[in-house]
Amino acid sequence: MATYALTGGATGIGAAIKNQLCDAGHRVIVVDLADGDVCADLSDLAGRQKAIDGIRALAPEGLDGFIPCAGLGPSVRPFSLIAKVNFFAAVAVTEGVLDLLLKRKGSIVMIASNSAAMVGHDEFVDLMLGGQEVAACELIENKDGHSAYAGSKHALSCWLRRNAPDYARQGVRLNAVAPGIIDTPLSKKVLADKDLGQVMKDFGDSVPLGAIGKPEQIADVVCFMLSGKASFMAGSIVFVDGGHDAMLRPDQF
Ligand code: NAD
Repeated sequence: MATYALTGGATGIGAAIKNQLCDAGHRVIVVDLADGDVCADLSDLAGRQKAIDGIRALAPEGLDGFIPCAGLGPSVRPFSLIAKVNFFAAVAVTEGVLDLLLKRKGSIVMIASNSAAMVGHDEFVDLMLGGQEVAACELIENKDGHSAYAGSKHALSCWLRRNAPDYARQGVRLNAVAPGIIDTPLSKKVLADKDLGQVMKDFGDSVPLGAIGKPEQIADVVCFMLSGKASFMAGSIVFVDGGHDAMLRPDQF
């Protein structure tokens, strides 16, 4: 039996990951706003520290894996919350439990997004990667939800690529999945949004495989990447999006 920690395990993709790991006989420590083994609001520093302390208390022997899955979609206001949870919390909790992962040569799977490839490396991304949370949050308030969401996932993907080689040298595999549109409470909120709903619906209708994804289809890949079957994967960002990224960016990979 392995021990995993997972943020955002109460619903959607996180709940599917938790269920698959538990069904395989593993122990999963869930951090979420409510309904978690550790209840913490990851949007602020105190909540992130509570999450780190809670995981440490429940797994002093170390972690076999960590999945920072908690995230907010582009319909959320204020836009700064998206940067706080999707980027700053994911990085802070990962760094806060790294020594637990080092103890057991654990593996990390982050949850990026295929939308990360839809924006460039701009000032917002640079501020996030520079750890300037206040400035990044101020800047994004004057933009829009898509820029906040895609930018947060772009920064997370860059952070992963910059850190994966060093983590690998220490024996910790750092990888990510980049889901496309998946049927979860997050995407339902976007579909119901007066500004973003139609664009999201059209996006869902254009998935090459013919349908939007299910949380279990992301969890299948996450569980593979956590497992020993993926023992030579490090620094990989795997698109699990029904062919959307290949359709939109055929010559970039
Ligand atoms: P979801 O809304 O079902 O789940 C998100 C989880 O994060 C919830 O359990 C929620 O309570 C938790 N969370 C949100 N804010 C939090 C906070 N401040 N503190 C602690 N926990 C918090 O959404 P989902 O679609 O399952 O999203 C999971 C991950 O997948 C996110 O990182 C999301 O960006 C990513 N993703 C989703 C899609 C999609 O189409 N659904 C596509 C690409 C990437």
